[in-house]
Amino acid sequence: MAHTKGPWSVSQQLGLRLFIVADDEAIAEILPCNFDAEQFANADLMVSAPELLEALEIAVQCCACTLKQRDSGHLVECFAPKAIEVIRKAKHRMSAP
Ligand SMILES: [Zn+2]
Repeated sequence: MAHTKGPWSVSQQLGLRLFIVADDEAIAEILPCNFDAEQFANADLMVSAPELLEALEIAVQCCACTLKQRDSGHLVECFAPKAIEVIRKAKHRMSAP
């Protein structure tokens, strides 16, 4: 199953509840209810996730390794293996039945 399509945004209702919203529909609620700057920063990071994932998937295709180096696991200094690991982690439930 794929994640809810972005863009995502943060919505605060009546100053009491903080939601992550996609296409005018709440997809998650941020707890606890005593919001401070850290909770808003967390929410901003979460709503960036679809765009970060998309950017990371594009970046992996642009690493400086040759095809042969990619086939053997990339150069030691290449960012792609870590990026691929993070993408896999973000999508592991997408491939679950
Ligand atoms: Zn590489």
